[in-house]
Order: sequence, then C-alpha cells, then structure tokens
Amino acid sequence: MEMEPTYNPALFEDKWYRHWLEKGYFHADTEKVLKGEKPKFSVVLPPPNVTGVLHVGHALNSTLQDVICRWKRMNGYEVCWVPGTDHAGIATQWVVERELAKEGLTRHDVGREEFLKRVWKWKEQYGSRIINQLKKLGTSCDWERERFTMDEGFSRAVRRAFVTLYKEGLIYRGKRLINWCPRCHTALSDLEVEHEEEQGNLWYIRYPLVGEEGYIVVATTRPETLLGDVAVAVNPSDERYRHLIGKKVRLPIVEREIPIIADEYVDPEFGTGAVKITPAHDFNDYEVAQRHGLPEIQVMDDWGRITVAPFKGMDRFEAREAIVKMLKEEELLEKVEPHTHAVGHCYRCKTVIEPYLTEQWFVKTKPLAQRPIEAVKSGEVKFIPKQWENTFFDWMYNIRDWCISRQIWWGHRIPAWYCADCGHVNVAEEAPERCESCGSRNLKQDEDVLDTWFSSALWPFGVFGWPDETDDLKAFYPTDLLVTGFDIIFFWVARMMMMGYHFTGKRPFADVYVHALVRDEKGQKMSKTKGNVIDPLEMVEKYGADTLRFTLTALAAQGRDIRLSERIIEGYRHFANKVWNVARFVLNAADAAAVEGGASTNYAPEDLWILTKLSETAQEVDRALEGYRFNDAAKAVYQFIWNELADWYVEFTKHRLYKGTEQERRTASQVLLRVLREAMKLLHPIMPFITEEIYQKLPNKDAESIVIAPWPSKECCLFPEVAQRVETVKELIRGVRNVKAELNIPPSTQVEVFVKSGDSKLIDVIEKMEPAIKQLARASSVKVVSEAPKGCVSFFLPGVEVYVKVGELIDVEKEVERIKKKLEKMAKEIAKLEKKLSNENFLAKAPKEVVEKNRKELQELTQLHSKLTQTLQQLQKLG
Ligand SMILES: [Zn+2]
Ligand SMILES: [Zn+2]
Repeated sequence: MEMEPTYNPALFEDKWYRHWLEKGYFHADTEKVLKGEKPKFSVVLPPPNVTGVLHVGHALNSTLQDVICRWKRMNGYEVCWVPGTDHAGIATQWVVERELAKEGLTRHDVGREEFLKRVWKWKEQYGSRIINQLKKLGTSCDWERERFTMDEGFSRAVRRAFVTLYKEGLIYRGKRLINWCPRCHTALSDLEVEHEEEQGNLWYIRYPLVGEEGYIVVATTRPETLLGDVAVAVNPSDERYRHLIGKKVRLPIVEREIPIIADEYVDPEFGTGAVKITPAHDFNDYEVAQRHGLPEIQVMDDWGRITVAPFKGMDRFEAREAIVKMLKEEELLEKVEPHTHAVGHCYRCKTVIEPYLTEQWFVKTKPLAQRPIEAVKSGEVKFIPKQWENTFFDWMYNIRDWCISRQIWWGHRIPAWYCADCGHVNVAEEAPERCESCGSRNLKQDEDVLDTWFSSALWPFGVFGWPDETDDLKAFYPTDLLVTGFDIIFFWVARMMMMGYHFTGKRPFADVYVHALVRDEKGQKMSKTKGNVIDPLEMVEKYGADTLRFTLTALAAQGRDIRLSERIIEGYRHFANKVWNVARFVLNAADAAAVEGGASTNYAPEDLWILTKLSETAQEVDRALEGYRFNDAAKAVYQFIWNELADWYVEFTKHRLYKGTEQERRTASQVLLRVLREAMKLLHPIMPFITEEIYQKLPNKDAESIVIAPWPSKECCLFPEVAQRVETVKELIRGVRNVKAELNIPPSTQVEVFVKSGDSKLIDVIEKMEPAIKQLARASSVKVVSEAPKGCVSFFLPGVEVYVKVGELIDVEKEVERIKKKLEKMAKEIAKLEKKLSNENFLAKAPKEVVEKNRKELQELTQLHSKLTQTLQQLQKLG
C-alpha cells in the first residue's frame, strides 16, 4: 500500500484515536477477568484537577502509564486504566470566585447555594478540557469508566468513609492551631503553605517588671501579636535571666501581668534570648503554652482583623504599625533591626497565612499509618526508585493528625449535624430527620467541607464502586501500578495507602513509580515568569504526539531530572522521520505477494542476524519495561530501527531485492516485512500513532489493529553464532571504509579486498555476503587468500585478517608525509588535553559535563592516534 512521501502526523493521529475509541479497544471487560479468561492489569490515573490545563508534567505522567498499559494489552492482559478528574476544592472555588469578582461580587454576596450552582456550571463547561487534552496524547484510558471525585457514587464513598472512621474513633473534632488563609477563609494543611524568605524587622520591646525597677527586653518579628501574649520565656540555662524566672512583667499597652517562664525551646542566641509567648498565633508558642498550662488568647478574627481594644477592627498589618507607634510613644521600643525570616504563604492566593485557633475535624493518623509502613517494609508495596521509600518512612513515622475540614463551599460537605437543643453531634451518611440523642428536629449541618485529598485518598477503590462489593472491585482491585510525581507522595500516595488498607484490607497498588519533575534544558524549574515553559499541546501541534511521547520516554531515567527543551523534541522528530522512511522503503521494495504461501526457509546469514537482533531487542524492551526503565526501552527500540534495520539490514537486502533470484527476492521480502511489523509492535507503546499508520498498510498484519496485536516473542529466532559472524562482516565493511578515509582515498573508489581466516564458517558467511560487502564497502572483489597479498594495508578482526590493496591507488611517500603531519597535530592536541585534565584548578571549577566531554575527546583521540600509527607503519613497509 502507498505511503505519503513524508511523515505528517497531523494526517492520521486524530483519525486513529477516533478509530480506537469506536472499536472499544481501551474498554476493559470485567467478565473476561472474573471468568479467568484473561489476566487483568489495572491502573488508576492520578486525577488531574478539574481546573487543570495540560502541562508537560501531565504529559509525562500519562505517557509513562500509557506505555505500560499498551505493552500489557499487547501481552494479553485485560487492561483497565481508569481516568477521572478531581474536584480540587480550593483551586476550583478560587477560579469561580475570580469570575464573580469581575462582576464585583464575592461568594458571600451570592450565597452558598447560588455559588455552588455556578461552580457546577463552570465544571460542565470547562471540566472536560484536560481530559480532551489527554486524549490528544493518545492515552488509552477506559473512558467509559471515567469518574469525578464529586460524582454521586464517589460522594457516597466519601460519606461512608467519614462515618466509619468517626464511629471507630479515628475522626474527631477539636480545637487546634492551624494554618489559616484570611483571604481564602479556610484552613490549610502544612503542605499547602509555601515558605519564602522575606526581609522583615526584629522589634526589641521592653516589658516592665512587676514590683521592681527595670524591664526585660524581648525580640519579635510580629509586634501586633503582643496583644495575645501569655508569658515571656527564657532558656533555663541562660545565666542572664536566671534570677527573673518566676517573676512577672506587665504587658505593654494591654497592662496585663504575665509570668516569666523557662523553656528549652528558647534559643539564647536569638535576639535578646527572651521571647514573648503568643499561643493562639504561633505554632511553637502553642507547644510551649501546652507544656506550661498557659491559656490561649485569640486576638484576631478569621479575616485577620484585630479583635481587642484599642485596635479592634484593624487589619493585622495596620495594627502592627499602630502598635509600634504606641510603643515608641511610651518609650518601650528599644530598637529595630532588619531581619530575614521565612514567612508562610497560602499556596493558592499567596496571602500571608495566620496560625489560627479553631474547631476543626481531624483524622487520627498514627493507627492508620502502621499497615502502610509494614507493607513498604515487606515489599508488598514497592517504590521505584527505591530511594523514595525513605521519604515515605520519614513522613509516616512522624505523621501528625490530619486536619480534614476546610472552610470553603466547593467540596464534600462534612456529614455532621449539630443539635441546637442538646448539642449532640449527629454523624451520618444521610441527613438525619431527628437528633439521635434527644429526638429534636432542630439540626444544622456543619458548614465546612472536606479536604480535597480526603476524597482522592479513596480513589483506587472508589472508582470501582466501593463501598458496594461490585464485580469491578473484585476484578480490578487492588491495582497494579501507580505513576506519580514525588511532590504528592504525602498528599496522596501515603493517604491512599492508609485508606486502602483500612477500608479494603488490601494494598491499593503494588508498584509506585515516582517520576521526576520536568525541568528546562539548564535544569531550572519551568515557570511562566521565566518564560521557559514547554506547552505539550503546542509540541503535539508542531511535531506530533508520537515525537513528544518518545522524547519524554527517552528522558525518563530513574532518579534523574528530566531536562526538556524544544530542541530535544525536534531532534527526536528525526527519529519519527526515519521510522517513516524505512517503512516506506520496505513497503515499496518488498514483494507484498511474498507473504502468501509458506515461510521461506532459505535464509541468508543477514536474515538470521536481523531476526536475532529483533529477538534481543524484544528481550531488552521487556526487561526495561518490567523494571520501569523507560529510557532503556526507548533506546533499545531506537537503536534497533535506526542502526540495525535502517543502516544495515535494508542495505544488506538491496541486491537480493533488485538483482536476486525469485527465491532470494521472496525470502528478503518476507524477512523485511516481518521485521518491520515486529519493530512497529515494539515501538507501539511509545509511538502509538505512526506505528498503527504503518501497521495498517502492511500486507502481513496479524491483527485488525496494532493496539491488540500480539507482542513480539522474545524466544524465537535466536541464532547467536551466525549473528556474531555477520557482526564481523559489518566490522569488515567499516574497516575498509576507514582505510579509505585514513589514506585520503575517495569512498566511491573500488578497492580489492582480501580475507585470510582459519574459520571456515566465517569464510562461508563472507562468501555468501560477498555482493553486500562489495556494494557497501565499494570493493571490486572480495577474495579469500592463504597468504598476505602484496601492496596492501591490513587490519585484524576476531578470526579474520583483512587486506585492502592500496598500492596503486596512492602515492605512498606523499601519504606517509601527510599522515606523519596529521599524527604530530594529533599528538599536540592530546598533550593539550592531558595537561588540562591534570590541572586541579580546572577539574575543581569546570562543570562536570565539560570535564566529561574533554575526557571522552582525549580517549577518542588517543585511540585514533594509535590506529593511524599502525596504518603509517604498514605504509612505510609498502614503500
Ligand atoms: Zn489564600
Ligand atoms: Zn439533640
């Protein structure tokens, strides 16, 4: 069948994707698995935020999963890859709030009900954007199983999980100091707070002693919190203050008397060595107050406004100015020093967070963490690369209770109803009619919603219909693989494990492959402000999805950063072209009719060689994918197609295709078509579109689509001995070409070649391949000899000596002079590099890559030098 002369992915990528969907290739059949007809392989897609726009991280994540899923599918597995989106509480609410702001409204102006209507409307309109973008990449998810973390079934799963944990005493309500965003008006988990170094001040404030002269000076970065101070603390070993411990000071402005206490937490080196303790507005102070039984005095409301006189109603930063001014007037401000310190910001809106004391819901995590820890220890759940297990253990051993309530409106509303009459908290899956304690109908549901990660923690079993005991759950849970970025190991992976083990008694997944962040070419994080962001959809538009996928796969080496640039993607586009061209050659040159009738048995040595290479490549791709060495899989198939198939085998077959006997032409055609078909299969998981386009044109396709074609067998066709001899023939051809290059003989000049060998089998292969050798080495003849012929330069390969007759082709004396000069020049170059590489200063200061490059250059030059020296010696003998 005809192929377009040039590779143009735009002509077929969308076409094939639609075709695959119509055929239902990505849909998993539960029955087949339950009846034991096929083994299952299941994966859940990390649900992207419904607000998401495809970035290169998503592209990497979904490509790697797709490579594995397609590979498993071709290996006979019933693959169930469940996609979906996350409702992304704060992120989505923020988007809709911004839209409201354009109309000059806040969510409080429109009210909860109307606001939620707007969010749902937004979701209907834009919620499938990222899903459609994922499809552009060729992801083979089971779209019929697509879920949303707030769909009806999932909401039921969330309520079941909450109520169960509450009844087991693993969810409780309590007053805790939490990270609070006064702008978003919600609690934030530790992970949602971004710490940044900021230039601030250290204010030195005098706290007058009670009942005696003098004062103690405390240093603080936040003078406005002085209103909520309950103590001044010093280190017990600090001699300067020992006599003051147990005495009292009078709090400036407020005039409240507070104690001076001793606590190890105080750093004598910081400021004056005396610090104020504000438990309601500082995490460390909260701990100190707990230890000393001190009260918490809240002085701000949930908007970050001061609640106590004389600053009542003032914003916290305004209040800072006012308080400093007042301290100055009362001569209680000793000095101000500039001071850099880390300040926490809301990850969403960048507002400075405020530690804030509120009633929140918590999950008691320590008991839930035990089983996941054991699972990772025993290898029941594996992290790849393994180093991430340490990160996981660190977190799990030091886990703190998880604050799961959020004071926003978009999300799963907490299923707790407060009784206005008796105060009882009714926790239930469905809204209760009456209070279960006093029977009152006077019930009000908790205003808060659950942390988004609470629902995504149920993802691996929720998507299969839990809490019902569905067939899907039986067939596909536990899942086999999770592919994720390292940044959400705690947010998500650890929590899925806690919930998975607790609710199903089984691991949620067997393997967790953790991929690196995609950075730019220089290793910098991609960001809009730096302007180094690579838009995957733009790359698909320009180079095709296959090229982007191949690039990401080829760069995904374990434990290494992924450094991506458009230049690299462009480079791999050449590979796609190569695939296209080699397929086009085969389809044009091979005799399609050769696939009819039986297989030829009349194989040439080069046929057995390429079939062996094919099997070896299949083995390598399998081994690489089994170990999640994606880059090695890409490299193996790249080298096979480009170096072995295109560069050598296609050339080897040309004389048989164009000048051979009917039989030879038939055999060569059969092998070419077979190798091309199997090569396309090996490449299919990484480059699904181009391989289907080519597969569909093959006269020898063995399935209706490459998506469901059988994976190449790795056992068949191994002829290592013949293959080794053909490798020697390749070396022979290269060697003849080198001799010409070294002696300035134009490559097209025909030379006489002689071989001397005691290996009769090798001689046999050389004789059989004579036409190919003559063609590729531009040899006028290839003769077997028993004596070294005259007028030749020679080189040695394992088992064979090769002589190239050059005597009449060159002016020996002139060549000797030229080579001597060349050797001198090389020697200088080598000396220069050696000097550079022994210079400690250079080694210490130069970038690693530069040193590595120089080392390689030196090695290559040294090798070339020694080879050319040998050639020179041979030439000198000729003269
Ligand atoms: Zn915020
Ligand atoms: Zn009641």
